[in-house]
Amino acid sequence: MARYLESKCKLCRRDGVKLFLKGDRCYSDKCAIEKRNYPPGEHGHARFSRRSGYRLQLREKQKLRRMYILLERQFRGYYDRAVKMKGVTGANLLKLLETRLDNMVFRMGFAPSRETSRQLVLHKHFAVNGKLVDRPSFQLRPGDRVSVREKSMNLLVIEEALKKYGSRGTVPYVTVDVTKREGVYVEEPTREMIPVPIEENVIVELYSK
Ligand code: SF4
Repeated sequence: MARYLESKCKLCRRDGVKLFLKGDRCYSDKCAIEKRNYPPGEHGHARFSRRSGYRLQLREKQKLRRMYILLERQFRGYYDRAVKMKGVTGANLLKLLETRLDNMVFRMGFAPSRETSRQLVLHKHFAVNGKLVDRPSFQLRPGDRVSVREKSMNLLVIEEALKKYGSRGTVPYVTVDVTKREGVYVEEPTREMIPVPIEENVIVELYSK
């Protein structure tokens, strides 16, 4: 599993955007971005203003990669798949990332962060269409049903996360039945539906060089 040993909040501050790496804290006024939205370090304020061209492309790529907690090799693999798909490459890339099982578990409110949702998937707490799936990168298709497995129904981390379902924001391409602990990936999202503040076109420019 890809892990970042550096302070997670520093990553957000360096990129100037909330990457939602710390669960509940990200939605509170304790979020470092809410308190001081400039890069860490002595010259942090100055560094934001120098972003352009290659630097911007690199930053956007790193933001997206970190948001979904992927290693460079994995991220590049998604890009290569996005290129081969019909449609706009940048939007395809986001769709592929959004429809990973670990991300969907997060979007459905079963976990407070993508990191936790990945752990929960790895620990066999979820089924897709009734069958155990413990691969975080498992790609969902419209109509797929994600459910908490019987043995995990009372897991505290899931229960606590679901109590806050909705307060972190929802996406229109999933529906959730909190009581049944079950969610459905209803339809393929358009780019506009995906709440990710990234300029994906500059990532495409970076990899097309
Ligand atoms: Fe930290 Fe805020 Fe980023 Fe969450 S969104 S990791 S609290 S800076």
